[in-house]
Amino acid sequence: MPFIPRQEPFLCEHCGAKVQPIEHGSCRNHCPLCLWSKHVDDQGPGDRASTCGGLMEPVGVDFRGPKGWMIVHRCVTCGKSITNKCAPDDDQAKIATLHP
Ligand SMILES: [Zn+2]
Ligand SMILES: [Zn+2]
Repeated sequence: MPFIPRQEPFLCEHCGAKVQPIEHGSCRNHCPLCLWSKHVDDQGPGDRASTCGGLMEPVGVDFRGPKGWMIVHRCVTCGKSITNKCAPDDDQAKIATLHP
């Protein structure tokens, strides 16, 4: 499995989109078009400690106060759930479909 650099463009392994990094601020770990991610973190965002490498399906959203909306991802390979902050250019219509 290829390593995903934090601030480099990457190809989404779910929809094939070429994903550009966010210019200012936090690292992007999911595709803004289909919202799928990849299981590379173990304990927290950006630690890149997981050896799983499975694709992570967006399964829901969660409101976390000052952090705003978080996307809940579940790994299709191992079943682990990780929440990630939404990026400003995420597809808002897709996020809306994840609301309870
Ligand atoms: Zn995608
Ligand atoms: Zn996994």
